[in-house]
Parts: sequence; structure tokens; C-alpha cells
Amino acid sequence: MDRTHLLNKLWQYQHQYGFISDEAVSEISNKLNVSNIEIESVISFYHFFHKKPTGKHTIYLNNNIISELKGFSTVKTTIEKETGCTFNEQGNEEFSLFETSCIGLNDQEPAALINFQPFTDLTPNKVKLIIQKIRNGENVKDFASKTKSKIRYTPEEDKTVIFRPYEMGKSILKGLKYTPQEIIDKISKSKLLGLGGAFFPVGYKWQSCKNNEDDAKYIICNADEGEPGTFKDRAIFQHLPGLVIEGMILAGYATGAKEGIIYLRAEYQFFKEELENLIQQFHTANLLGKNIKDINGFDFDIRIQLGAGSYVCGAASALIESMEGRRGEPPVRMWSATKHGFKHKPTIVNNVETLAFASRIIELGEDYFLNLGTEESPGTKLISISGDVAKPGIYEIEFGTTIRELLSIEMSQATAPYFVQVSGPSGECVNNTEFDRRICKEDILCGGSFMVFNRNRDILQILRNFMEFFKEESCGVCTPCRAGNYILTEKIKKIQRGLCAQEDIDEMKQWGKIIKLTSRCGLGKSSANTVTTAVDKFKDYFNVKIAPANFDKTVEFDMEDAIHEFDSIIKDTQL
Ligand code: SF4
Repeated sequence: MDRTHLLNKLWQYQHQYGFISDEAVSEISNKLNVSNIEIESVISFYHFFHKKPTGKHTIYLNNNIISELKGFSTVKTTIEKETGCTFNEQGNEEFSLFETSCIGLNDQEPAALINFQPFTDLTPNKVKLIIQKIRNGENVKDFASKTKSKIRYTPEEDKTVIFRPYEMGKSILKGLKYTPQEIIDKISKSKLLGLGGAFFPVGYKWQSCKNNEDDAKYIICNADEGEPGTFKDRAIFQHLPGLVIEGMILAGYATGAKEGIIYLRAEYQFFKEELENLIQQFHTANLLGKNIKDINGFDFDIRIQLGAGSYVCGAASALIESMEGRRGEPPVRMWSATKHGFKHKPTIVNNVETLAFASRIIELGEDYFLNLGTEESPGTKLISISGDVAKPGIYEIEFGTTIRELLSIEMSQATAPYFVQVSGPSGECVNNTEFDRRICKEDILCGGSFMVFNRNRDILQILRNFMEFFKEESCGVCTPCRAGNYILTEKIKKIQRGLCAQEDIDEMKQWGKIIKLTSRCGLGKSSANTVTTAVDKFKDYFNVKIAPANFDKTVEFDMEDAIHEFDSIIKDTQL
């Protein structure tokens, strides 16, 4: 057994005992031949692994901005009162409470995971009922929420790619009529882009993996969607999981890979069993396993690897580190994954949505796809809409659709939209003069998260929530990212206290540039985007927040606040 089994081993102990003891670390160390200290460092990296005992029920409450605006604090207070525990502190035998950043349920906030089962649309009364049931000995699995997101909008049938009837094996059977090279040519011709947020040409990636001859190759499905506000990949898995599996099989056929791995974020483990059952059905139908559809030598199998709670693992390089049993810190990249990826073998890492689209392109033909969307971004895109809208949910839109259309009465029915966050905290904020911008490569791209805030919302509260998120999720390897995100958060707090001067805004912009230029991975390169552009895009709002030039600067640094902040960091580290 090698180190790639480390995460699974840790999960085994975490699930069974509620924590990973020193004895467990030693046992794993002996089995995998990895030092204790290295295992400790892996445990400390992931949010869902604990070194201290947790209660029989762990509650992870989402604290992202949508949850915050929909009642997070009253729900939090009620949970604490009903359980007798405090969030982020040692719990009791029955409960342990933790805040977490995003659990992929933004259309149903406030939401929490209890023993990794979802509980949505929480209210104080609902919380009281849930805790009562737990105290009565009921199994949380039996009364967890149904989480299928509403598929709110799809174009007319002849313009839909994803949300149309699905028939198991249809795209594979069609794909097997072509040679592997023809499959890649079709994907290249369709101009399909990676839809997780990187928008890298998929055909190029598949071709590169095919060209790199090796005895082993891997197809990894990146199901670690962690960007606050996105839940489209969950919706695909809950509505049309077969499409993703078929996309992986086709990628394997095209490139010669024989093993597929779904890296499933830990927050989604409540449907892991269903997914495993479906994989089994594919085996029974001779669509997975050896000699698929009686084609001699066409072998492909899929397994699921559970993540353990880390936003930065959504980046392909960090995801591979994680799968290899290390901390999910993005390494300095020397090679493309298609050359040296998982276990140093040629590897394709594609997002869930991308693989689902690849499967549909083979089924419907690349011309069908090319007839939709725009010149540079053909096809459609799934968008997760949440916030101040009457109809949150998943929307399949043609590329080229405007922000105004997404907000319209025909679609999400936004109420007095003012601040729209496209692509989550790492994306771009737009104001109401930009609502005619189009979602496509030629204008503004959207990885999937689309959050709407109305005129009554406090922009500083939104920005502070985003920066707290990045501060928490920064892996800390690069000093500019580690320190810069902290400093930007402090500056926002300073504005909230009414102590901010124009020079602070200038410094924020400078820090934004430094973090972007000197950070290693996408988190650092994008974390300051929203803060530094919001101050210009929402000038009227910020002008009244900035103190006049002659304000008393002697009170600008609040020592008591800084000490309090420092104390809580130390406490967090000790937990
Ligand atoms: Fe880690 Fe931030 Fe550097 Fe990315 S940019 S490697 S998250 S410290």
C-alpha cells in the first residue's frame, strides 16, 4: 500500500472514531511507510480531519456571504443554545460545531452538514426540531434534507445541451464508432473549454495526454467545486451523473488511459454511495471494466477519492498533491499534468461539467454544439444563481447571454440588483452600468457562481466575507498571499470602523497588485480582484466611507481589536 491511500486511511479513522489519534497516526505510518510528522502535517492541512475527539454529531454550518444574508447568525445562535456548545471550540460528547466556507448549497441557505448529511433552509425552529430528533436517537440520514437543486431554465429543446433526456451508454456507443483520434478531433473542433473556471481548450489537453506515451495514464474528474456560490457540479451529479461517467470513459478511450478517479469534495459525500452504485451499473452493462463492449483491450475503471476540505485543492496541481497523500499545496509547476501528472504519469484533469459536455458533444455531434453560443465560446454553460433573486437555482444558458437577461423576470427574477458577483469571490464584481455585458470568452467569463446583491446590502460586509474566506483558505506557502489577504481584511475592517483614508485605498490597490503578481496559484492571483475593483466600480458607496483628509489619525489603529484578533488566531491554531 502506498502513500496515495493516505487520505482514505485518515477518513477511515475520522469516520470511525471522530478523530485521528496519535496511535492511529503511528499505525498509518507503519502501514504506508510515511513518517508520523508528515502524516500530522497532512491532517493539519484539511478542515475535516481532527486530532482531538469530536462529539457523536459534527455540525458544519456554512458561513459564506449568502448564508450570512439569509439568517446565518440566528441559526448559529440557536444551534449553540440547543446543543450547549460553542462554534469552533471543543464540543461535548454529543456535538461538535464548526463553521465552514461553502458546502455547495447556496440556493438553499442557511445550510449545514450534520455528520455530512445536508440540512437546508434552516430556521431557528427547524434547528430545534433537528436537535430534538438527534437527542431522541434518530439517525440524521433518515431525516436529512432533499437537496436536488431546481433546474430553473433551459433554452428550447433544440438549444439544450445538458438538460435533455439521458440514455445510459448512448454517447459511449456513438463514440466507439470513431477512432480515438477522431474523438479528440471532434472535441477540438467543438472548441469545448474547461468549464471549472480555467477555460483551457479541452481538445488540446486530451491530445497532449494521448501523445505522451506511457504504461499508465489517468483521467481525473475534478469534483471539488469549492468556489462560494457554485453548486452546478452537485446538480449534475444529482440529476445526470451518467453523463460525467461517460465523459470519463470517452476520455479514457481517446487517450489510452485505463483508470479514472473522481476526486469528490468531502462536502458531497452524502451522494457518494449513489455514485458508487451507478458505477456498478456501468460495470453490469459492460460499459466499465475489461474489454468494454467486447472491444479487446479497451479497459477502463473508475473509483472515487474523497477530498477532505480544502478550497485550494480545486486547482489541478494541488488536487494531484492531495491525491498523492500530501498537503494540497500547489507545487511550483515544472510540467503540464498531461505529461507528468498523478504518480508522474500523463493525466487529464477535467471538471465535472466539462466531462458532461464532452459526453453530450459526442452524442449530439460537434456541429450541434458549434451552432450555439458565440464564436469563441460555443455551446451552453451552467450557472448557479443565488442571493437576492426570487428563483435561485441552476440555469443552462447559451454563451453570450447578458447579465441583464440572467437577472430578468424570465429568469432569476432579481430584486433591485446592485452588486453582482460573477464567478464567485475570485471572479469579478459588476455594477448596474455593466448589466449588458455578455457571459462569454469575448466579454466576461463565469465559472459557475453568480451571486446577486440588492441595494440594501452592505458592500463592505460582502467584501469582508470574501477576504475572510481567502485568508482562511490560503495554504500559506507564499508570503504575499498569506500576509496580503490578512492585510486586505484588516483594511476592510478599518473602513467599517470609519477610520479609512484615501491612502488606505491606494495601499489596498498596491497590495492587490503584489498578491496577484507574486502568488503561486489561482487563489493568490485572484483573491484581491473584487476588493480592488469594487472601490472604483462603487465609488459613490466608498466616497462616503472614506474619512476626510483631516480626520484624527491617532485613533486609526485599534490595539484592543488587534489583540483580540491575534488571540483568536492562536486559539484557532490550537484547536
Ligand atoms: Fe498557497 Fe496562496 Fe501561494 Fe496559492 S497563492 S500556493 S493558496 S499561499
